[in-house]
Amino acid sequence: MPGRKEIKSPLDAWLLKEEVAEELRKVLGPRRARRVAKDPHARRKPRPCGMTVHPGQGCSLGCLYCYVPDMGFPTKPRPYHLSGEELAYALAINPHVVPGRTLAAFGSVTEPFLPGITEKTLEYFRAVNEWLSLPCQVSTKLIIDKELAIELARAEPKLSILISATTASKAKTLEPGAPLPQERVVGGENAVRAGLRADLFLRPLIPGVTTEDDIRELLHLAKQHGLKGVVAGSLRLTQTNIRRLRSAGVNVNELMRLAGLRRPPKHETQVPVTAASLKEVVKEETGRQGLQYLPAACAANILSHGLNCYLCKWGPCGRPSPNVKEVEGSIIEFIKELLRPKDLEVISSQEGLRILIRVKVWGLNRALKSLRTYSYFLSDFHKVKVILESG
Ligand code: SF4
Repeated sequence: MPGRKEIKSPLDAWLLKEEVAEELRKVLGPRRARRVAKDPHARRKPRPCGMTVHPGQGCSLGCLYCYVPDMGFPTKPRPYHLSGEELAYALAINPHVVPGRTLAAFGSVTEPFLPGITEKTLEYFRAVNEWLSLPCQVSTKLIIDKELAIELARAEPKLSILISATTASKAKTLEPGAPLPQERVVGGENAVRAGLRADLFLRPLIPGVTTEDDIRELLHLAKQHGLKGVVAGSLRLTQTNIRRLRSAGVNVNELMRLAGLRRPPKHETQVPVTAASLKEVVKEETGRQGLQYLPAACAANILSHGLNCYLCKWGPCGRPSPNVKEVEGSIIEFIKELLRPKDLEVISSQEGLRILIRVKVWGLNRALKSLRTYSYFLSDFHKVKVILESG
């Protein structure tokens, strides 16, 4: 196993990715490797929060606002069928994954710490961390006990933990299978004591359900239990969560109005509900409680791993700006190694939060085409926009 290597440049990441794929191909053997290559983890693109990793599929907590059933996943959760090594191989051959940089988000279509899923989650953290050094993040509504916290810190020492909550007062109705948020934050404290970073994930904020008092109480609890910051997220309406919320007495018509919907969305469609005024309350209250307001879940992951990110308008997040000259240097190194061009010219400029780099590679049209395939490597690594041109 290559182990955790220092990845300073796109070239380091590229070489590590090749090495890991090669080594894992030998470990798995050709038949297993061919089977894993067909898994969605080997192909799908990262979402804004990072590459979603599924240690399981489905969830039994039965939260009324959940959209996982609309995605076709069962209410009886099952662990994902890949082993840790198979998952690492799938990610190593996924063209969108950059070792050391691509954020890995666990828990989008399951609760990662349900009985029967926790072992798989830990196995995946170990594999993803040890083979590819991907910065991992997990969101949970369950209580992380002390033993689990220690195991998590061993598996991924910089793991970012998000403790999920929607409301303090109506949690029993909305999240019938989950422990109360007042208990979940104790799990966050256990993670903090084990040396991990934990943040509060106020998601989904539901207008008409989540109150200002809820927000104040949850933020106060977060502060008391050593959580560092707060991420706020919106509700997404689906065909079936509209039904479930309505049956619990929630004013669904108002939610549909906020989402711009006249009728429930069609099968599998998710429509976000704006919660701008609630988010403003969260922002204000976060400052008052001495917590950090984070624009998105990915920001918590970036901070937890001591990285920086300039990818979107909400940033930059994390450490200060990379040095333009260093970025240029590492991009030239990468191109030279990959293409061995006779001559190339790099033109760079800084626009807002991004560094734009135009690379002219003289007389290498075919090679340039293949380089374009790898341009995500350059852009994802430094959060720079790289424009490739032939001379
Ligand atoms: S700049 Fe911040 S909010 Fe935007 S993608 Fe990066 S980490 Fe996320």
